[in-house]
Amino acid sequence: MVQPPLVSQLNSTSVPEDFKTEALNLQDSNQNAILQNTILNYDLVIVGGGIVGATLAVALEGSGLTVLIVEAQKKAEAIAKGQAYAIHLSSSRIWDALGVWAAIEPQVQEFKQVHLSDGTDHHVVQFMPQDLGQDLGLSSLGHVAEHRVLLSALLDRVQRCKNIHWCCPARVAQTKVQGDYTELTVESLDAEAISDNPPFTVRSRLVIGADGAKSQVREQVGIKTRGKAYWQSCLVATIQPEKAHRNIAYERFWPSGPFAILPVSETHCRIVWTAPHAEAQRLQALNEQDFSVALTERYGTQMGQLTLVGDRFTFPAKLVHSCEYVRPRVALVGDAAHSCHPVGGQGLNLGVRDAAALAQILRTAQIQGEDIGSLAVLKRYQRWRRTQNILALSFTDILNRMFSNQILPLVVVRRLGLRLMSMIPWIKVTSLRFMAGLLGKAPLLLPPTPSK
Ligand SMILES: Cc1cc2nc3c(=O)[nH]c(=O)nc-3n(C[C@H](O)[C@H](O)[C@H](O)COP(=O)(O)OP(=O)(O)OC[C@H]3O[C@@H](n4cnc5c(N)ncnc54)[C@H](O)[C@@H]3O)c2cc1C
Repeated sequence: MVQPPLVSQLNSTSVPEDFKTEALNLQDSNQNAILQNTILNYDLVIVGGGIVGATLAVALEGSGLTVLIVEAQKKAEAIAKGQAYAIHLSSSRIWDALGVWAAIEPQVQEFKQVHLSDGTDHHVVQFMPQDLGQDLGLSSLGHVAEHRVLLSALLDRVQRCKNIHWCCPARVAQTKVQGDYTELTVESLDAEAISDNPPFTVRSRLVIGADGAKSQVREQVGIKTRGKAYWQSCLVATIQPEKAHRNIAYERFWPSGPFAILPVSETHCRIVWTAPHAEAQRLQALNEQDFSVALTERYGTQMGQLTLVGDRFTFPAKLVHSCEYVRPRVALVGDAAHSCHPVGGQGLNLGVRDAAALAQILRTAQIQGEDIGSLAVLKRYQRWRRTQNILALSFTDILNRMFSNQILPLVVVRRLGLRLMSMIPWIKVTSLRFMAGLLGKAPLLLPPTPSK
C-alpha cells in the first residue's frame, strides 16, 4: 500500500526521542495543515494500546504490515493503572517468543502452588508445577505481574518496531467501513493542545478494536454483545502478610463469592475479594484497621496479621461476550471481544492469546497475498478464538455460580468435585492445563505442550 510522505514524517521528524506517543502533538502549523488535508494510509489500525493491543502490535513486527496504534491515554497514565494480574504460562510463553519476557520476568513473582478450596469445607486441592506434566520440568505454575511492568515492557518493545506508529492521547471518533478499506476519524484527546491537533482521517485495510470492555469500535460498527452483570463486585487491594507467602496462590470459594490471594512481590500479596455489591462497598469504606480485621476473618491466620498497603479498588463483575468478533475490515481482541468474572484470572490471558492468534492469521494471509481485512481471513480468527473463549467464559461463570451459593445438592456436588480432583490425576491435570491456557489450539508463538 502506498504511504503518503506524512507517515514517515510522523515517525521521523515529529516524534520525540523517548516515545512515539506524542506523534500527533505537532507544534508545526504546516504539519497540522498537512494532517488536516491528508488521508493517512496504514494496513492496520489498532484502537487501544493496552496490554492486548500492544501485544498484537509487537506480534506483527516484521510482517510487512504498517500499523498505527491509537490510544486514548498518555503513556504515563496508561502505565500507572494500579492493577495486577495472574499471568498464565500461555501468556509468558507468548511474550517470551516476542522478546519481552526477559524485561518482565525480573519484576514479577512466581506462584509455585495453587490452593483451591471451598470456604465452608476443610478439603484443599493443591496444584503443583509437576501436575502440569513432569516432562515440562516447570518450577512454577505462573506469575503475578503488575500492569505497569507488563505495559512498560511492551511499549518499550513497540518503540523499537519500525512498522508501528503510535498516536496518543487520541480516540477514533468514527469508523466507516467502505468496501476495501475502513475510514477512521481520529481526534486528539489532549485538552491542552486540542486546537493544535485537528481531527484527521486514516484509511486502513483493517481496524482492530483492542479498546477494552466498553469498546467504541465494537459500538461504532454495530456488533452486539450478550452477557450479564453479576450480583457481585470485586475488591482488589495490596496487603503485606506478617508471614512469608511461600509463593502460594489461594483461591477460596465462599457463598458470597471467590476470594483470592496472589503473591505479587517477595513481601506483598494482591487480594481479589468478591462479595455482593453492598458488602463490597462496606468493605471499601472500612477504615484500614477494621478492614484488616475483616480480612483476617475472611482468610484466616495462616499468614499472620494481614496489613493493607495503599488503596482499595472495587469493580462490578460482568460477563460480556461479543456476538461476532469480526466484520469485513474489523476484528475485536481482548476485553473488546469478551470480559469475564475475575475468578481464575482468565481475562487478560485470553486477550493475549487472541492477539497471538490474530497476528499469526494476518501474517500468514499477508505472505499468501490475501486481503488481511477480508471476511474470509478474519473468520479464521473468529473460528479459532471464539470457541476457546466461550469455554473459558463458561468455566468462570459456572465456577462462580457453583460455589457462590448454599443450595445443598450443589454443595454436595462441588465438595465431591474437589475431592475427585485431588484423587484422580487426569481430572487435576486437565483442569490445571485448561486454567493455564495450555489446552486447545495454540498460536505458533506458543510452543505446544508435550502430552502426558
Ligand atoms: C478485579 C479484576 C481482576 C482481574 N484479574 C485478572 C487476572 O488476574 N488475570 C487476568 O488475565 N485478567 C484479570 N482481569 C481481567 C483483565 O483486567 C482484563 O481482561 C484486561 O485488562 C483486558 O485488557 P485489554 O488490553 O483487552 O483492555 P484494557 O486493559 O481495557 O485496555 C484497553 C485500552 O484501550 C484504550 N482505549 C479505550 N477506549 C479507547 C478509544 N475509544 N480510543 C483509543 N483507545 C481507547 C484504553 O485507554 C486502554 O489502554 C481482572 C479484571 C478485574 C476487574
